[in-house]
Amino acid sequence: MLASLLLEPGRLELRDVEIPKAGPGEVVVRVRTALTCGTDLKAFRRGHPKMTIPGPFGHEFSGDVHEVGEGVTKFQPGDQIMTAPSAPCGDCIYCRKAQENLCAKVMDTMVWGAFAEYVCMPSHIVANNMFKKPEHLSYEEAAMLEPLSCVVYGMDQVEVKPDDTVLIIGAGAIGLLHVMVARALGAERVIVAGRRESRLKLAWALGADEVIDVEEQNTFDRVKELTNDLGADIVIECTGQLAVWEETPDLARPGGSVILFGGLPSGTKATFDTSRLHYDQITLKGVFHYTRSAVKKAYQLLTDKKITVSGLISGTYSLNDLRHVFEDLLHQGKGIKFAVVPGKSEPSSAEAG
Ligand SMILES: [Zn+2]
Ligand SMILES: [Zn+2]
Repeated sequence: MLASLLLEPGRLELRDVEIPKAGPGEVVVRVRTALTCGTDLKAFRRGHPKMTIPGPFGHEFSGDVHEVGEGVTKFQPGDQIMTAPSAPCGDCIYCRKAQENLCAKVMDTMVWGAFAEYVCMPSHIVANNMFKKPEHLSYEEAAMLEPLSCVVYGMDQVEVKPDDTVLIIGAGAIGLLHVMVARALGAERVIVAGRRESRLKLAWALGADEVIDVEEQNTFDRVKELTNDLGADIVIECTGQLAVWEETPDLARPGGSVILFGGLPSGTKATFDTSRLHYDQITLKGVFHYTRSAVKKAYQLLTDKKITVSGLISGTYSLNDLRHVFEDLLHQGKGIKFAVVPGKSEPSSAEAG
């Protein structure tokens, strides 16, 4: 089978390798669609502490069951499936304290290698975070389960009330997924602050009530204007930029909450005005990864068509085009997410900016 390997940052290679065999409890999936993700781009640019490099690449995908290992009863060959690429161990201190998103083994046992024709899913993921994909959901949409699970987990950490104004900073895939989830949770008003006209237009189309072009407008002034000088009830940081992290407490109303979604390199220090945290009692909360219950909620949002994520796909390519996708498109900030379909021969004409 063809599998894409990241040999070192900036160097992808397509290789012919053996199709994996399903061991006990495992399932080998024939990949039908894999999606690019910000994490992949980060790894492509500068490596990733949790990825083996050189090693297989890609982690958001859906497909068909090719082979099931001994003891697997949930699935059979031919089933269409969608899956998260990780699951908690169930046994470590974090799993036992109901903080399974922090599971000590979750990142070490995560599956990489979705940019390939086949991928083998370990038993703990098969048992916990793999589901049958209904026919009415496309493979592209189903492949969105992982990023959506992260977003659902983050939003679960705050209570969205019906009269809330939610401010989302960042109009990439994660920011835009937050727009859809905030809408689905019933937020009264969703404001998106971001850059690039095409992305802000998409934010409108996906349900934002107001957009702030941060290159043209001052975010702080505009948020104050839109909220009667109060600030937003909930602020969600989706850029992973220090300056934005530091700005977030000033964009929340007294008593409001800030979700810090976008990670920064370890060792990064941020500075806040303490009075906003103390006298104005603003909650700052970092969020990471997802729990099984977040995966289930994300699965439900997708399969019940409560949200439609296909608008985030900027184009469809084959495995042969993967280098082009990373080197020429994503690296230059083009598009939101790209779909990679093994076996697809011609690139699609859609290349959103
Ligand atoms: Zn991802
Ligand atoms: Zn664990």
